[in-house]
Amino acid sequence: MERTLSLIKPDGVARNLIGEVIKRFETAGIKIVAMKKLHLSRKQAEGFYAVHKERPFFNSLMEFMTSGPIVAMVLEGEDVIAHNRKLMGATNFKEAEEGTIRRDYATDIEKNVVHGSDAPETAAFEISYFFNSMEIVG
Ligand code: GDP
Repeated sequence: MERTLSLIKPDGVARNLIGEVIKRFETAGIKIVAMKKLHLSRKQAEGFYAVHKERPFFNSLMEFMTSGPIVAMVLEGEDVIAHNRKLMGATNFKEAEEGTIRRDYATDIEKNVVHGSDAPETAAFEISYFFNSMEIVG
């Protein structure tokens, strides 16, 4: 069974959307096999988003991602990487399909409530960034 990393970003946690996001995963038949709440340091956020460090919005993204606590989860299911991306919707909420998390709750291209790994390699890196094998309960 495939696994992916999901984050509820600081805007989602601050706006009490943890339950709403989890409900969508559970309703879709996705299993949550690990979960924790944490507040990223600047270094931790930079390490997680290292692939974006040359992007013009990197500093703003770092400010946002360290602005408050997040919830990290490991999701498990068939094709869960693509399934989760579909539930999330496009990065830019204005382009996201109706009924997606970002279309329903994002307020800005940056403050888009959730993160989800985009490929098997990034999922493996991102899961291990937050969780060790003992913390994942299938
Ligand atoms: P994702 O995989 O859909 O999250 O999108 P990306 O990997 O392209 O970007 C990572 C995150 O950076 C997004 O989820 C947004 O929070 C933020 N982001 C992406 N594009 C922009 C942008 O043009 N401006 C700003 N301020 N933030 C952006």
